[in-house]
Parts: sequence; structure tokens; C-alpha cells
Amino acid sequence: MRHVAIIGSGPAGYYTAEAAQKHWGDDVRVDIFDTLPVPYGLIRTGVAPDHQSIKGVSRRYEATALTENVRFVGNVTVGTDVSVPELQSLYDAVVFATGAPHDRPLGLPGDDLANVFGSAAFVGWYNGHPQFAGLDPDLSGANAVVIGMGNVALDVARILAKTEAEFAESDIVAHALDALRGSNLRTITIVGRRGPHQIMMTPKELGELMHLERASPRVDPADLPEDAEDAILEPGLRKSVAHLRSFAAIPESERADKAIELDFDMYASPVRLLGESRVEAVEVERTTVEAGKASGTGETYTIPADLVVSCIGYRSSPIPDVPFDERAGRFANDEGRILPGLYCVGWAKRGPTGTIGTNRPDGFGVVEKIAEDLAAGVLGPGGKEGRTGFNALAEQRKLDIVTFRDWKKIEEAEAQAARQGAPREKFVDIEAMIRARG
Ligand code: NAP
Repeated sequence: MRHVAIIGSGPAGYYTAEAAQKHWGDDVRVDIFDTLPVPYGLIRTGVAPDHQSIKGVSRRYEATALTENVRFVGNVTVGTDVSVPELQSLYDAVVFATGAPHDRPLGLPGDDLANVFGSAAFVGWYNGHPQFAGLDPDLSGANAVVIGMGNVALDVARILAKTEAEFAESDIVAHALDALRGSNLRTITIVGRRGPHQIMMTPKELGELMHLERASPRVDPADLPEDAEDAILEPGLRKSVAHLRSFAAIPESERADKAIELDFDMYASPVRLLGESRVEAVEVERTTVEAGKASGTGETYTIPADLVVSCIGYRSSPIPDVPFDERAGRFANDEGRILPGLYCVGWAKRGPTGTIGTNRPDGFGVVEKIAEDLAAGVLGPGGKEGRTGFNALAEQRKLDIVTFRDWKKIEEAEAQAARQGAPREKFVDIEAMIRARG
């Protein structure tokens, strides 16, 4: 019997479990650990609440979770409740599927002003992550600045722009919906340090901005390169740029009906945040871009900002004694191998890039490496205790494990508490989640 411990129950974790099952069939036992009492990581607390079709992928993870040889071990924090060396003594392989839950710091003067947030916190807030449920952003001002030109910036800007009706079928949590209901935002400026050809936003997500009830996207035609220059772009980016061109072509008469302007400010690199105690403006430096690289021109200007959300990428959490690549913000690894018996997948392996589906080949890849290492004798003679050994340790430490069956009860309670039309109302604190299992 092979014993695999996976730390993290998001997409990378479940795809790895699925791959282990396909590889070893009944000869493997997989335990998936999560700090939260609820599974699915990024699917639950990262993917935007108005993107329910993307969240639907969790049904695939459930199919894996419900098999005999895979189990969910929720409400257990590796590093506190059980150490990595302890897991290594019990399982043949330990796989970090811990994602990249921390913001890349902006590192600018004024980034500690009130009402300045990183996207991990802000997205966690509207998605009901227990760590960020109490964030309480102030949406009473007229101007928001969203820094970054990736899909997370787009998610944040879109959520800030939507009306209550547009959230009808979403699982946005009640505290965020209440706050957005009282929002006075009139301008949301998405700031990018490079130009249209360097945006990281994907076409489907950009296209959604054309259909917002009360917001209209705006691109300055002067920021757009000659049409012919788009020919060299790969097809996805070319489509995204086509959307920017259509935003630039929206007639003023059409904008007049919309209360919120979603302004793309490109070639603008933030240099500092201004304000007394709360943020009031973002100072940016105009840039030029040569061969894809931005350089400052020395010309600066300020953009009014009562709220700032920095969406400039994420970092993984280092774990004591596990080699970490500080610069890249992920585990130091060679195709998923960290040290003998220690592996990583997903964002913990390659950094915060790609779609949810990108994690599937990652999961299958790491299982191949584990199989190779087992065959080569790198992982020792086998015969480890696996989950039986962990159960004994958990009992000795009085760990309150939340199982997948418990999660199904929590899920049912969330579905029952949903607003009309919504799929669920999430519990946003850990105690409430645990109580809901009955
Ligand atoms: P991202 O795609 O890497 O975008 C980060 C953005 O931040 C880039 O525009 C980058 O500009 C900018 N940036 C970085 N450092 C900066 C700085 N110091 N100052 C100003 N701007 C800075 O990251 P993300 O948006 O966090 O997304 C992470 C991953 O999740 C991506 O693969 C994304 O596609 C995926 N995702 C997908 C969806 C979806 O499919 N619906 C939704 C959300 C996220 P430069 O390019 O100039 O560095």
C-alpha cells in the first residue's frame, strides 16, 4: 500500500489525489489536509462569486473525495497540529498543494494607509474566507484604484462595479453584498504599468465588462497601438486587445446612462500612495514600453483614490525547514520535487499562473515523480502506517478532524441559508462551520 499526504484541498490537491488514484488504484490511500473545515481552497475563496460555472469544477473533486481511498482531513493545520517530519514518518510522500495565499507586497510609500488592501485580503473578504471576513473596506468614497492588469484586477473591478441584481445567482457573502449595496463608487481606475499588448487579462473575462448594468469600461484611444500591430499577438491576447479597442470606441452618449466609469489607465506605474491616515490618491509615473519592458518617463500625476486594491500577484507560505525560493515566492523545486519524499504542485510549485485546469497536468506530473522515486527506492522500503498512524496521533492530540461527510452537512446548511436564487450562503467563521456539521 502507498500512503500519500496532500496538504491543501484546492484544485492542485484534488487533481493530485485523482492522479494517485488513477495510478495506483486500490493500492493507495490519500489523505488531503486543510486548515479550514471546508474543502476546495481557491474554488471556494478565490474564484469570483459571480463565476459559478467555474466553481462547478468542485463536482469533479467531490467524485474523487467520495472514493474509499481518498479522505478529507479538515480543520488540521500542518506545522501546528502536526509537523511535516511527522507526516513524512507516516506517509511515503508528502505533497504541498498549498497554493499562494499571500499578496506580493506593493512595497511603496503609503501602502500601509487605511483602505489599502491586497487582493488576497479583498477577494477573501467578498468570498467569505474566515481570515478576511472582518476586513470591512470603506466603500463610501467615489474613487477606487485597482492596481494590476491581470484577471484578479478584473475580478475586483467587476465585483466593485456590479449591482445587487447582478449578484442574484452568485454566492457573494452577505457582509460583502451589504457593503456593496451602500457603495458610493463612481470611478474605478484599473492601473497598469505597461500597455495593451502586455495585459494579462483573458478575453472572456474582459468581454464581461461590456455587459455591466451600471458601469462602462473606458480606454483612452491614444493608448492603443496601430491596429496592424495586433497581428503579431497570440490569438488570446489579440482577442483581449480587441476588447480594449471596443471599450475605446464606446460613444459618450452610451456612457451617459451608466453611473460608474471603469477606466483603464495604462502606461502608469504606481510610485506612492498619498493620504493622511486613509488613502486619498495614488501617484503614478507615466511609462513607455520598449520590447515589453516599462521604463519611467519622469512625468507623474495623481489619481484620486478612496480605496486601493493591489492585484499584483501572490506568494506561497514558506514552511520551516522546507527549501523556499524567496524571489519567486514558491517552494524551491525541480519539476515538483523539493526533497526526497517532499513534493509540490500547483501554485506552490510554479507560482500563481495559469488557469484551474493547468493544475491537472501538474497533479499527474507529480504522481509520476512519486512513482519514479518509489521504484528507484528513494522513498525507503515502504511499510509506513499512513492514515492509521495519523488517526492515532490525532486522537492523542485531540484534534477535531472535520471529515468529508461533515463537510456535506456544512454544505447542506449553507445551501439552506442561501438568499433566493443563490447557491449558498457561506459560513464565514470556523466555529460556525464546525457547529453546522451537527
Ligand atoms: P497576473 O495575471 O500575473 O497579473 C498581475 C498584474 O500585476 C500584471 O498586470 C502585472 O504587470 C501587475 N504587476 C505586478 N507587479 C506590479 C507592480 N509592482 N506594480 C504594478 N503592477 C504590477 O496575476 P493575477 O491577476 O493575480 O492572476 C493570477 C492567476 O490567476 C493568473 O494566471 C490569472 O489568469 C488567474 N486567474 C484567472 C481567473 C479567470 O480565469 N477568471 C480569475 C482570476 C485569476 P506586469 O505584467 O507589468 O508585471
